Amino acid sequence: SLTAGVVAVQGDVEEHAAAIERAAQAHDREVTVREIRDSGLVPDCDLLAMPGGESTTISRLLHSEGIAAEIREHVAAGKPLLATCAGLIVASSDAGDDRVDELGLIDVSVERNAFGRQRDSFEAPLAVDGLADDEPYPAVFIRAPAIDDVGNGNAEVLAAWDGRPVAVTQGSVVGTAFHPELTPDSRIHGLAFFENADAAVPRVERGQ
Ligand code: GLN
Repeated sequence: SLTAGVVAVQGDVEEHAAAIERAAQAHDREVTVREIRDSGLVPDCDLLAMPGGESTTISRLLHSEGIAAEIREHVAAGKPLLATCAGLIVASSDAGDDRVDELGLIDVSVERNAFGRQRDSFEAPLAVDGLADDEPYPAVFIRAPAIDDVGNGNAEVLAAWDGRPVAVTQGSVVGTAFHPELTPDSRIHGLAFFENADAAVPRVERGQ
């Protein structure tokens, strides 16, 4: 069985765990999901999710708990990371906010809370490159960031909303401004973990 980690220092953790299980089932894989609150667990994970929440808090705790360096090593080893909403902000190279100590895993700059107060929370049918079929993805945005600049072109835009990138990939990392764990549709988790050609996930079938 694969070991999946959900970074659980703060944010919507259980929903990610359930989405990982749904995606694994759809791809005929078996996963055991562990919540990551301390250092020492990430090295055993085949794949990682970094949830939404409050990016300044998540960033501070990841560094103080010694988890930040382990996530960097995970990605350096080519293992998949799905970073959503606040997770994307933390994974970026520029959060536009001094209180966020970015991990620099995706070479993009982001703007926090980019879609305005009137639209704190909304759902949008998104066309996302690389999904298993052409059905729009029901993307839930909650005080979501937008991607401002894909800078040096290491990151590839997978989806845009209102003319602004909201999903990107770079190597084994997928980042979304929205919350793919909040809808039953597990295609984003499937893309990040089981269909990303750049990510090294061991092939472990169910029942092995
Ligand atoms: N607005 C939050 C932040 O900037 C992110 C919101 C979320 O993760 N839902 O940290």
